[in-house]
Amino acid sequence: MLETKKVASVISLLNNIQRDYAPAALATSFSIEDMVLLDVISKHAPEIGVFTLDTGRLPAETYDLMQRTHERYGAVVEVYAPDCSVLAEYVQAQGPNAFYNSVEQRKQCCAMRKLVPLKRALSNREAWITGLRREQSVTRNDIQRMEWDAVHGIPKFNPLLDWSEDEVWAYIRENDVPFNELYTQGYTSIGCAPCTRAITEQEDIRAGRWWWESPETKECGLHVRQESKAKDTETAEA
Ligand code: SF4
Repeated sequence: MLETKKVASVISLLNNIQRDYAPAALATSFSIEDMVLLDVISKHAPEIGVFTLDTGRLPAETYDLMQRTHERYGAVVEVYAPDCSVLAEYVQAQGPNAFYNSVEQRKQCCAMRKLVPLKRALSNREAWITGLRREQSVTRNDIQRMEWDAVHGIPKFNPLLDWSEDEVWAYIRENDVPFNELYTQGYTSIGCAPCTRAITEQEDIRAGRWWWESPETKECGLHVRQESKAKDTETAEA
């Protein structure tokens, strides 16, 4: 059961971000968490932008959800794609699936398909918003509501950091929010098709991402942390 005050807290935070950090934007990968935030933004803080990074390797089900999102909310999601010539050069030199060969090659692919487009997406923003939750993985269990993103030089907000997976699903159901069909097939964290698989009940939520790597390396570099500047802010929620 989702507490009303938890939703109210997210609405309040988004209202304050809209007021104090314009232009701000939600980065969506069309996860259930990002769909919750997109729904709240569309209803309560519509001046906050929304963008996605289309890596070119997303599952068909994610593109299907992008289409359903467009039909439900309108053309609100800005799409950022990798540079075509860089991509062509990389694929020709290393092959289309070089990311399986080593962590380094995997990170190169994530950099080209995600990090460079992210930099463009954030270049004119005063803050960005994510759907990260603490219980998602060992790399996320100490995230704060507001953190300083030193790479992009702007604050990053994580409004759902203390939500459980059940609470996210409760919001999705109560508000009839569209979601990725892969969640009904054992997927709990969805990224690019070749780097994501379904998990078993015993596995960690993000075990299906880059499953051939150890848990400590399972981030694509979008969420680099700088501990000394991370802070849990009450002023942003006031
Ligand atoms: S998740 Fe996989 S396919 Fe997607 S950008 Fe990273 S390495 Fe490349």
